[in-house]
Amino acid sequence: MQYSDDAVSLSRDEIASVQVGLLRETIARARRAPAYQDRLQGISPDDIRSPDDVRKLPFTSKEDLRAGMPCGFLAVPMRDVVRMHYSSGTTGLATAVYHTRDDLHRWAQCVARGMLAGGVTDEDVFQNMMGYGLFTGGLGFHYAGELIGCMTIPAGSGNTERQIHLMHTFGSSVLHIIPSYALRVLYVCDGEGIDPLRELSVRVIYVGGEPHSDQLCRRIEDGFGAKVHNCYGLSEMCGPGVAMECAAQQGLHVCEDHFLLEVLDPDSLEPVEPGEPGEIVLTTLRREAMPLIRYRTRDIAHVIPGDCPCGSRHVRVSRIEGRTDDMLVVKGVNVYPMQVERALLGIDEVGRNYVITLDRPADLDRMTIAVELTQQAFADDMRRLNALRERIRRRLHSELDIGVEVELHEPGALPVTEGKAVRVIDRRDQEK
Ligand SMILES: [Zn+2]
Repeated sequence: MQYSDDAVSLSRDEIASVQVGLLRETIARARRAPAYQDRLQGISPDDIRSPDDVRKLPFTSKEDLRAGMPCGFLAVPMRDVVRMHYSSGTTGLATAVYHTRDDLHRWAQCVARGMLAGGVTDEDVFQNMMGYGLFTGGLGFHYAGELIGCMTIPAGSGNTERQIHLMHTFGSSVLHIIPSYALRVLYVCDGEGIDPLRELSVRVIYVGGEPHSDQLCRRIEDGFGAKVHNCYGLSEMCGPGVAMECAAQQGLHVCEDHFLLEVLDPDSLEPVEPGEPGEIVLTTLRREAMPLIRYRTRDIAHVIPGDCPCGSRHVRVSRIEGRTDDMLVVKGVNVYPMQVERALLGIDEVGRNYVITLDRPADLDRMTIAVELTQQAFADDMRRLNALRERIRRRLHSELDIGVEVELHEPGALPVTEGKAVRVIDRRDQEK
């Protein structure tokens, strides 16, 4: 029998009522964690009468989690824990996240809800190309694929030739992959003379694990002839599955019966207007081993107002537009790497890779953007290449509000990784 999920049809009123009940339970559970005992003093579950009352509760930050390592936020006896993950820790020390058996099951349900909303069924062959192990990307989707009944291929990350061989041999129809790596796979297909549109069967691709632009998704869609759906999550909440994009591709539905969403101004910590970008702050509603209250994710996104044509009333958020700690200050102007990607990938001649380098010659910030071109564009004569460089430079200037240097490179010239892409090299501190 096809797996199904009733919570997807909850009305707004039902969601609010479910959230109030679960938030009260979460406060009671969180109190059992040493790190929350003091913080939640004077707060009673009865203080929560609407989801907005979450604002009566204290924030939790990554620094708090670090200070509470290894067990400060653990709210159950260790014998009830069946697995731990370790946050990827892109900035600073990693932190442990614990799961009970029920936590793992609910996590799989969240991801499965998103996969069903993207049209995945038990007929699909699901090739999971995310890293397995301490990183949550692999295991997070794995159990959801099995829950739906897909033939699930635990391919893991890397070994691009073997990935393509698996897709080709087993007719993989659904992928889960880091977006920059999806472009790498297309590039290797091209080198091996494989036409993904004719020789592969991919129809749905879930991407996540790193911030990326709509333009990058459209390129992946064109390359594979598939629909790309964005998936948002972070290991502190569980992993992927906090919010996923439905078939309408107009934003990511938050699993609101599992996570309570706030979007706040990162400085004032007050809610932003609907539609305005702000920091995503999340409260877990069902987590047993490690409930987290008002966790500051540092991810920047905005709520998409209005109803989704798919029928789900779970609130939608945009793709992640950046991270508060990704923000670069260049010549006194705030710049997110995502703005660079958005500007570059809107230009047809631009290939699949780019690197931003910052340095400070003569005490002045300099931003240099190295751009790979398509084979066809790179073969042009010098006069046309110079004109193209000027066009790219102007486009970046208008997007970023600062002048940049642009270098053009042939396809494959810039370094690639099989994990999260390294897009920014900041050498300014070394030059003081
Ligand atoms: Zn929808």
